[in-house]
Amino acid sequence: MYKPEELLLDFRITSYCNLGCDLCFRNPGISDNTTTEILPVIDKMYQIGFRKIGFTGGEPTSRKDYIELIKYAKRKGFLTYLSTVGHRFSMDHAQLNDILDWVGIPIDGIDKDVNIDIRSEKMSNQHHVVKNILKWLSGVNNKINIKLTTVVSNANINKLHDIVSWVSRLPYSVQSWRFYQFCPLGVGKEKREKLEIDKYVFLDEMRTLKEDFPDVPISWATFEERDKANVVMEPNFDIIIPDGENYTLLCNMKNDDKEKILSSIFGNPIIVKKCQDNRFWIEQQRVLK
Ligand code: SF4
Repeated sequence: MYKPEELLLDFRITSYCNLGCDLCFRNPGISDNTTTEILPVIDKMYQIGFRKIGFTGGEPTSRKDYIELIKYAKRKGFLTYLSTVGHRFSMDHAQLNDILDWVGIPIDGIDKDVNIDIRSEKMSNQHHVVKNILKWLSGVNNKINIKLTTVVSNANINKLHDIVSWVSRLPYSVQSWRFYQFCPLGVGKEKREKLEIDKYVFLDEMRTLKEDFPDVPISWATFEERDKANVVMEPNFDIIIPDGENYTLLCNMKNDDKEKILSSIFGNPIIVKKCQDNRFWIEQQRVLK
């Protein structure tokens, strides 16, 4: 039986982000809670039995207290994950190194045009952000597992081979690399005509990639596989899941009691199975020196 301690709960600590990506999944415009309001909710998560927390957004590092929140969760006993574009990662690495288990950073292209096409003008240099991080990490005593994420769409399907080849020549090896078929969810729904990609085209490309790069820890998920496959806590503590092209509200971590929270998540065998399948990579965490 899948237990709360095994589920990675994604906590959107802010819905703010100024990068304006075309494929963004967030629900913008939900007000942030304060540090003082958040800490008791992390306590409640722990009391209920959760042991894995993902700090996401929006851009979580836009909150001044993001390191404080990760530190608090780590000290309580959570496995910690941070999903970020990575602009602050090297800068904050010394503070994060002992309190963060995983970081997830996006890379969707290795040229400006693809980055702009799939994300935004402000993300045009994202491949350099990743490159600088992976070069820099080779010279420090890093203990944080690195996961790259690539959203596969019509804008980059023919460039994936070049992207993996380019990253695998960088001096630091990542511990996981997830490829996701574009999902028209949240803000991204508006861009479906430009970005949507056929499932079988996506799967063919994934198999080729895996064969061509057997040493790179590549894995993937289709839109269907990702549907209902992650439990998200919004900045207002609503617990939601992606459900088709929308989100469905399950409960609220602050206001609802333990029984309601557990039954709304773990009482649904589809959610349980899909979350298990989608988040297997977190179990492959390595102890890094
Ligand atoms: S996808 Fe991430 S980086 Fe892009 S706008 Fe959304 S939150 Fe910001």
